Amino acid sequence: MVKAIVGANWGDEGKGKITDMFASESDIVIRFQGGANAGHTIINEYGKLALHLLPSGICHSKVTNIIANGVALNIPKFKEEITNVLAKGVPMPNLMISDRAQIVMPYHILFDQYEEERLGGKAFGSTKSGIAPFYSDKYAKIGFQVCELFEEEALKEKLVSVLELKNILLEHLYHKPTLDADALFDELMQYREIVTPFVADTTAYLHQAIKDGKKILLEGQLGSMKDPDHGIYPMVTSSSTLAGYGTVGAGIPPYEIKEIVAVVKAYSSAVGAGAFTSEIFDDEANEMRQRGGDAGEYGATTGRPRRMGWFDCVASRYGCRVQGATDVALTAIDCLGYLDEIPVCVAYEIDGVETLDFPNPTKLDRAKPVWKKLKGWKSDIRGITSFDKLPKEAQEYVLFIEKELGVRISLVSTGPKREEIMFR
Ligand code: GDP
Ligand code: MG
Repeated sequence: MVKAIVGANWGDEGKGKITDMFASESDIVIRFQGGANAGHTIINEYGKLALHLLPSGICHSKVTNIIANGVALNIPKFKEEITNVLAKGVPMPNLMISDRAQIVMPYHILFDQYEEERLGGKAFGSTKSGIAPFYSDKYAKIGFQVCELFEEEALKEKLVSVLELKNILLEHLYHKPTLDADALFDELMQYREIVTPFVADTTAYLHQAIKDGKKILLEGQLGSMKDPDHGIYPMVTSSSTLAGYGTVGAGIPPYEIKEIVAVVKAYSSAVGAGAFTSEIFDDEANEMRQRGGDAGEYGATTGRPRRMGWFDCVASRYGCRVQGATDVALTAIDCLGYLDEIPVCVAYEIDGVETLDFPNPTKLDRAKPVWKKLKGWKSDIRGITSFDKLPKEAQEYVLFIEKELGVRISLVSTGPKREEIMFR
């Protein structure tokens, strides 16, 4: 049985917490896309862990964690993260890296930085982790799979050929120092040493696991709005963030995904540039940012303040739809207890016309929010674990969102800790 946990908003919905929770009843947790460019925060018996590349099942000793084919594998970051997690007292996780996963090359990170520099004021707000150059190269068929680290002669030859191209750009477009194939080869040999204990044919492993009826979790990174095909292009990430891609990025038959849990946050946050219709600013945003998440809404990877907004029914409904959500996990509702009234965006007004459908990116840029105000509950509901115990107004808030989304909210999270959750 395969279950996917994915984001229906702009990312940072609390997928890490939900995945960590479901991981305890899973055999396998898989990262299938993205890289170390975003982060999940999980808080459990080991304290607070910020995960970027490692699957959120790493705290559970009986879980096999897989970094699958579709991931952008940043090997130095991988090493750093393992070291940090072990330092927190987590036992050495059971972890596999697909031999077909591709490697974030040191120059991908450089090109990400140089390109953002070149764009200046028009930059994407990239985390500069090399993700866009990485996926560009993957689809241009000049990427490097983990398995290539073990074929030294072929690797050397390919490096020379790829660097010929890269060095032309470095010299003539970016006016930066060029790269040396021998030095890069040596670096890749260090990478090999780091990953060797984990490299495996994960496709074969998963084929058998499915046959054996194992419980498998697919862990998405970012959210629907950041999907290159369905999101707010071009202010998106460079790999698909959708549950459907889980089958490709992990190597699992599509029909095996039985449950798709879309994680939706009770208010909105976003990082990077791009349209964000329900965005709020100044004091209103600051207050929500301070009260949001486990210790304010700041990037788990970058530490930068997240952009804040009220709940957006239009974007979230679309976000659930493109994920194919069977269930919604509504998170961080406890963060809204300070408000007398809670505005939610129920429609967009575009060129004087109201719409309930999420528009294409060119129209989205002109969309203005249509607000409805719901009653606040003005109390601390953190840690409440049964729906009946929520104040009436909080129950109504959940039911309103459920109706707007058209998907059952089967989980409501009332705090960052593992046990601060209720099932409906
Ligand atoms: P992810 O990228 O989707 O895994 O989300 P992040 O971990 O980047 O951001 C979500 C933030 O909200 C983190 O600080 C979590 O600890 C926190 N969080 C998750 N669920 C809840 C919740 O129900 N209530 C509160 N207050 N914080 C939550
Ligand atoms: Mg995050």
